[in-house]
Amino acid sequence: MSEIDAIKTNNFKFNKKFGQNFIFDKNLLKAIIEDSNITKDDDVLEIGPGAGTLTKVIANSAKKVVSYEIDSNLKPILEQNLQGVQNSKVIFSDALKTSISEIESNFEGEYKIVANLPYYITTPLIFKFVQETTRVKTMSIMVQKEVGERLIAKAGDSDYGSISVVLDFYANVKILRNVPRRMFVPAPNVDSCVVQIEFVKNKHECNAKLFEKIVKSAFANRRKTLANNLSIDFCVNKQTIYEMLKELNINEQARGDSLTTKQFVEITKIFDKKSIKSK
Ligand code: SAH
Repeated sequence: MSEIDAIKTNNFKFNKKFGQNFIFDKNLLKAIIEDSNITKDDDVLEIGPGAGTLTKVIANSAKKVVSYEIDSNLKPILEQNLQGVQNSKVIFSDALKTSISEIESNFEGEYKIVANLPYYITTPLIFKFVQETTRVKTMSIMVQKEVGERLIAKAGDSDYGSISVVLDFYANVKILRNVPRRMFVPAPNVDSCVVQIEFVKNKHECNAKLFEKIVKSAFANRRKTLANNLSIDFCVNKQTIYEMLKELNINEQARGDSLTTKQFVEITKIFDKKSIKSK
């Protein structure tokens, strides 16, 4: 029986609430794994296995794969489709609500993440792994095309935002391939792309928490200047900020979206030295 048949015979109803858009195309599944550089040395965490099509391909290439699935209605389908796959374990639990320590108890050391994610959990999930662990080597995830473009955006791009800067602080990010909506069952209203996030330890040396607060503040009110946003959120007078910006050769009227990651790092270092803290 084919994998898609398991969906039909079990009378499975796709649940929009869980962002269920499955992939059955063997060539696409294979391409995602090849892109992700998964080898037999790799432990892999998968979020949202659905009918287990991607899970099976990951298991073929990896040492082992542990998948978290929120929808227990998929249990009979996953059991059927993953029958005989020895190095796969499925846990029925909300990946967002499961603690990192519980997730990581499945693995001995570092691991990679591969997922065709539901769109609504993309950003919180990325931040969860970016902020709470250093054991993830790479994240290869299918995301909505617009989100992918936001993740790789650089200073000055129209879709440059706080997530672009924060991700660039911790990782190298690239789009590996575009995936049209017709490749999914059922087809969603948007196109997708596979994004690769490669974590780089100590890519920038500064106070990471303070850096994130500064970036968040800089983008909090896009129409305000950087100096305005920072002076409000950090209770510093604007003149002090102007002087800092001058020292860094940044125009005092600059807005957050014109600054590079490196410039945000420089600002963070100065704030840290002067012990400037957020409200
Ligand atoms: N990876 C599969 C399915 C993708 S659809 C494929 O490529 O075919 C997204 C999957 O994520 C669905 O199975 C959905 O039930 C699951 N999901 C949604 N929210 C989740 C969450 N918070 N934690 C774990 N799984 C989730």
